[in-house]
Amino acid sequence: MTTHHESRRKFLKISGSAIILAPVLVASGNASAAANAALRTSLKYQPKPLDGKQCSGCAQFVPGAKPDANGTCKIIPNDNEIAPTGYCVGWAKKP
Ligand code: SF4
Repeated sequence: MTTHHESRRKFLKISGSAIILAPVLVASGNASAAANAALRTSLKYQPKPLDGKQCSGCAQFVPGAKPDANGTCKIIPNDNEIAPTGYCVGWAKKP
């Protein structure tokens, strides 16, 4: 087989992957967003505060780029969609 054929084969392989991945990225809207649904459920995570307790006042919360941006939680791995106004049963007052 010639080099031309190998290059063509590589190109087709790469473009095929791009076509398959494109709808996934478009559907999610944000390729880097991730939520750990299983752990959220077991910790009874909710996007709203409870009795004045919320993630922004929790010792486990790691804030996002802006005060109102989503952040992460030290006890919920692989999840960067934790709302500062959220709450779960793992809440612990920030020192
Ligand atoms: S432990 Fe719960 S309340 Fe605290 S930051 Fe994580 S998700 Fe929010």
